[in-house]
This record gives sequence, structure tokens and C-alpha cells, in this order.
Amino acid sequence: MADQTRIAVVTGASRGIGRAIALRLAADGRHVVLVSRSAGPLEAVRAEIEAAGGAAIALAADVGDRAAWAAAIESIIKDHGRLDILVNNAGITRDNLSLRMSDEEWDEVISVNLTSAFVAIRAAARAMMKKKFGRIVNIASTSGLVGNAGQANYAAAKSGLLGLSKTIARELGSKGVTCNVVAPGFIVTDMTSNLPEDVTNKVKDAMAIKRLGEPEDIAAAVAYVTSDEAGFLTGQTIAVDGGMTMV
Ligand code: NAP
Repeated sequence: MADQTRIAVVTGASRGIGRAIALRLAADGRHVVLVSRSAGPLEAVRAEIEAAGGAAIALAADVGDRAAWAAAIESIIKDHGRLDILVNNAGITRDNLSLRMSDEEWDEVISVNLTSAFVAIRAAARAMMKKKFGRIVNIASTSGLVGNAGQANYAAAKSGLLGLSKTIARELGSKGVTCNVVAPGFIVTDMTSNLPEDVTNKVKDAMAIKRLGEPEDIAAAVAYVTSDEAGFLTGQTIAVDGGMTMV
């Protein structure tokens, strides 16, 4: 592999938005490390990338396990000698009204959706600074921008990613490392597949572009934010939501 090949880690790459991001980054010539808990689906994505002429490896890891996740990032850096692009996309929901939300529902969502991003960034930052190049993208949500009833845990985690990203942007900017947020609106994936039709119709009504988003809509934004030419963009949140929030 040429030294210039960018090594990209994408979490939650086994399906949905993460899969689309991985396919897109691989099509753009990145060597992609695919991360999620389930080895089988990851392997299928890896094979799909290879069949299309791209390069990828699968790494089964639970990003909610701090020590194991930090060790996985360190091993990626050791194996490849670098880590250029980090996309913290893995996420879960445990929805409940705040009054009924359990400690477990709160903790699990904060751990997987927010703490995992900090753990990965902390483990990757030194290697990025050394190469004077890094592109970090945290996948948040419009719930983190405007709130959403039943999602106190999720909205807090996603909103937390904004503060984390702005801080990392300030801390690492002078070293060639950028950190931004992409905040999807309503995207058609497993995460949203169980919502009743009247809910999805209401969502469409609230959007300027009257269709639900596709994972590829998010992948396109991530491709730009992680490109070499996006070196002057940092600390920003790009809401890819069909004009739903416009905040
Ligand atoms: P999804 O279809 O449910 O996929 C979630 C991905 O995260 C899967 O690959 C899953 O793989 C992985 N994951 C979950 N917990 C993990 C853990 N502990 N360790 C490692 N990987 C884990 O979700 P999606 O819709 O693609 O969402 C992707 C991201 O976009 C999430 O952060 C989500 O919050 C955000 N988002 C989605 C929407 C939407 O409308 N879909 C809107 C706004 C924001 P395994 O289960 O195999 O581990």
C-alpha cells in the first residue's frame, strides 16, 4: 500500500449509515477498517468493498467497552503505522420518557454514543498529530440539535458530541487535525424501520425536501468532511436532514 493511502476507521459499519460511509470512503480510495460487534455482517461489507476493487478489513469490537476499544484503536495504528480518518458513527437508542428512563438506559446510550467517541479520539490523536493530518467526524443527530421527546439520553449524547468536537477542533487544529459533526435527520435504516407511517409522514411534512434521507446522503457529507481538501473546515456541525431543522 502506498504511504499516501488514507487509513479510515468507521464504527457501526455493519449496516445502515456506517455501511454506506465505509463503501463511499473505500470507493474514494481509502483503506477502511470496519468496526462493529458482529463479525458476520462486517465480513459481508468487507467482501462487498473488495469486490468493487476497494480495500477494507473487518474488526469486531464493542465501542462501549472502553479499554477494549482504546486497545483496538492502538492496534490499528500499530498495524498500519497511521490513522488518518476516524468516523465515530456507531450508535444506539433506548427511548423512554425521562420520568421512566432507567439508569441503564441512560448509561448505555451515553457510553456507546458519546464516551466511545472520546475514547477513540484520545487513542488516535497522537498518531494524527505526528503525521500532521487527521479528519475526525462524529455522527450526531438532529435530536441533539433540537431535542426529541423520549430521547433524553440520546439527545444528551448527540449534543455532547457537538461540545466534544468543538473542543477537539480547538485542541488539534494547529496540528492539521480537523474535527466536525455530521448530524443526520431521518434516514432510512434499521434504526428507523419500526416507526409507524403517520410518524414518518409527519417527519416528511417538517422537511423542505419532501423525502426521507438515504444512508448515501450522509456518506456524501462524510466523504467531503474527511477529504484532504476540507482542511479549513473544523468545529462545524453539518445537519444533513432535508432542511428539517435549519438551525
Ligand atoms: P443502525 O442501522 O442501527 O446501525 C448501528 C450500527 O452501530 C451497527 O453497525 C451496529 O453494529 C453498530 N453498533 C451499535 N452498538 C455498537 C457497539 N456497542 N459497538 C460497536 N458497534 C456498535 O443505525 P443507523 O441508522 O445506521 O445509525 C448510525 C448512526 O447515525 C448512529 O450514531 C445514529 O445515532 C445516527 N443517526 C441515525 C439516524 C437515522 O435516521 N437512521 C438519524 C440521526 C442519527 P452491531 O449491532 O453489529 O454492533
